Amino acid sequence: KKLKDGLKKTRESVVGQIDSMLQAFTVIDDELFDELEELLVMGDVGVETANKICGMLRVRVREKGITKPAKIMDEIAEISAEILSEGGNEMVLNTQPSIILVIGVNGVGKTTSIGKIANYYVQQGKKVTLAAADTFRAAAIDQLKIWAERSGADIVAQGEGSDPAAVVFDAISSAKAKGTDVIIVDTAGRLHNKKHLMDELAKIRRIIDRELPDADKEALLVLDATTGQNAVNQAAEFAKATGITGIVLTKLDGTAKGGVVLAIKDTLGIPVKFIGVGEKVDDLQPFDPEEFSRALF
Ligand code: GDP
Repeated sequence: KKLKDGLKKTRESVVGQIDSMLQAFTVIDDELFDELEELLVMGDVGVETANKICGMLRVRVREKGITKPAKIMDEIAEISAEILSEGGNEMVLNTQPSIILVIGVNGVGKTTSIGKIANYYVQQGKKVTLAAADTFRAAAIDQLKIWAERSGADIVAQGEGSDPAAVVFDAISSAKAKGTDVIIVDTAGRLHNKKHLMDELAKIRRIIDRELPDADKEALLVLDATTGQNAVNQAAEFAKATGITGIVLTKLDGTAKGGVVLAIKDTLGIPVKFIGVGEKVDDLQPFDPEEFSRALF
């Protein structure tokens, strides 16, 4: 229900247009596929992915002997689910502790997402420790403290300007001592083309690898869905510079650009693991490709 509501804008604009277009056709022909591809591109699915979806559709229409244009929508939903589920969307956090490194440019919803993810695991009965390693802005540390309280997570923080790797070291020591299940590390969100940001991330990763050599580790990149193609570009740049195991796509509720999920997954091969559909603590869901595709198309 929440997902359907969250995707309302995308459904009403892009998917609504596809629906009207399909209704205007009596037969499935090249013109239909051309118009569909164009609408998918306009819906932020991206040129490459829109082309791929239409190619897959043509094959299926032929193989299944589909003749009614109205039936196309179900096939799109199925193809979307297939593309989005390739490689799996599960968080792998089986060790105690396990650790999630959270990366993203300022303003994308990184802090909010960390709070929501913490809440998600606390609700499952897990012990969560937040590491306030975005020490660049005092406000970031304060915000994270508020989210720790709201979600029932512990937090390890030092002052503004302290060494992020030292904060992570402290958080890991504290987690080991307390029997924490999941450590979630906030990192600085200054622009990715700055070498020092990537150096800082590398240093944090070295500490994690040294202190938790056998732990399950996730590195989540937070992206703002409302920025559409920009989010895809950001993901590409980060993925080039540092290992990313999954995407958190935020603000899907505020945008008609929900199709960008497909562009990110298909062009970069990085699975979407969580989606944000609102500002509240429980407005975050583990990403379910089938449910998402059904809610969208
Ligand atoms: P950060 O700078 O990346 O840490 O961004 P914040 O976590 O402070 O979030 C920036 C703004 O985006 C805040 O006003 C959040 O409430 C809002 N926000 C974050 N996630 C979502 C979401 O899924 N939906 C909506 N509508 N707003 C969100």
